[in-house]
Amino acid sequence: MEITPRVHRIDKMRGNCYLIARDGLVLIDTGLPRTAGRISACIARTLHRSVTDLHTIILTHYHMDHVGNVPALVRATGAQVVIHEGDAPYLSGEKSMPLPSWPRSLLIRMVKPFLGWSPVRPDILLRDGDTIAGLTCIHTPGHTPGSICLFDPEEKVLFSGDTLLTERGRIQGPSERSSARQEEATRSLARIASLDFEILLPGHGEPVGPEASARLREFLAPAQGR
Ligand SMILES: [Zn+2]
Ligand SMILES: [Zn+2]
Repeated sequence: MEITPRVHRIDKMRGNCYLIARDGLVLIDTGLPRTAGRISACIARTLHRSVTDLHTIILTHYHMDHVGNVPALVRATGAQVVIHEGDAPYLSGEKSMPLPSWPRSLLIRMVKPFLGWSPVRPDILLRDGDTIAGLTCIHTPGHTPGSICLFDPEEKVLFSGDTLLTERGRIQGPSERSSARQEEATRSLARIASLDFEILLPGHGEPVGPEASARLREFLAPAQGR
């Protein structure tokens, strides 16, 4: 799905994945394991590029529905892997992934041994305010310690990971059941509401836009008035 001429969402992924096409290709999140073929197909058939043009993979957080295809893609492309320093130990296997006890995570926990996923050592660790591939890293802890949103000032797009989800074109806020620390997550939302973006691209759900940042402020307004 074309979001803007340079930004595409890869179809049929569990956990949204986005490609940004400039000189090279940047991938934001990678979906569940064993679906890397869909990402390669989008690069080849939709963007008419080579998978080796993929030079950077940025992860919004360490959950398996976002990091699942990292090992396969690194093998295929040699791309550098980028994640916030707070989530890096979970990707590299230094810390084991704590999984919340809701159905999808339970399923992931059960099938994980059969997925062929192996830990990956990230190449670049992000901190709040860092710039990577033209995107600004905004540290938005809550869903995980190292959750980030990525702001593209050129395209006026915000990639929100699981910090902010949508359903049927409406902003839903962070997932209550999956967010480890709800208060922290709410503070993070207030931070991203101060940005100016047209399109919101969530970790799950459909894009929201235009005037997505105004819609986010509207969404947060009742909560702030309490
Ligand atoms: Zn997710
Ligand atoms: Zn998540």
